[in-house]
Amino acid sequence: MNFKSLIKPILGIFLLISLFWGAIFFTDHRISVSAFDVNSFQKRGYTKDEIALFGDIAFREGNRLRKWETDIKVEIKNINALSPRDIADVDSCIAILAPLVLPLKMTRVSSDGNLLVYMGQDKLPVGNGRGLGYTDMNRILFFTNCSIRKVSIYEVKYLNQKDVLIHEFEHAIGLSHASKPYSFRLTMSGPECPAKFKSIDEMDKYLDIRFPISDQEKKVIKMLYSSDFKSGLNRNAFNKLILQ
Ligand SMILES: [Zn+2]
Repeated sequence: MNFKSLIKPILGIFLLISLFWGAIFFTDHRISVSAFDVNSFQKRGYTKDEIALFGDIAFREGNRLRKWETDIKVEIKNINALSPRDIADVDSCIAILAPLVLPLKMTRVSSDGNLLVYMGQDKLPVGNGRGLGYTDMNRILFFTNCSIRKVSIYEVKYLNQKDVLIHEFEHAIGLSHASKPYSFRLTMSGPECPAKFKSIDEMDKYLDIRFPISDQEKKVIKMLYSSDFKSGLNRNAFNKLILQ
């Protein structure tokens, strides 16, 4: 076989790969543009800080925005092993988040749930099992169908870590960890970037609240579930589009 006879197949393969990537980039761009209604977003009068926090914590795997597009049905899988207090904790998380994910409904169901909660586990189902909580979401391939359809939340036995459950719930509705500390309380602070309190006054403000979420964080969830966004928007496209 000489070199000349190889040129055609090599060119053919090269062309196919180029077409494949071209199609991916084209579709990616189209999805990002159609997944974000910039005009509507800009009319809402969000502040720079609100937009920056949204850009930081509202994008997940592959820097994609992910949200539920169907009603959220929370089912506690090990409900028979739990105390009324544990069940009340789940109901509190739902009560806090339900008004923020409107127009979707978020309710607790006894069967056929799509957000499954496993509370009081001995260890987490991933890695070495250590940690306080873990949220497992339906995976995405590339960027198609990024909407959240199925989630499992695992919380380890109660260790007086009162905000683990609400933190996992926030992952479950599409939020990720903050990349830097903020000067206000953030439930989505992660192990790599712990929450920072600004003052003793602020600590006092949240001391007696079982599942504290700051107004800033609530605003991000409302923004995410507004009609301005659809699942699949890429963080870079979002940053570019808002600067236009
Ligand atoms: Zn987390």
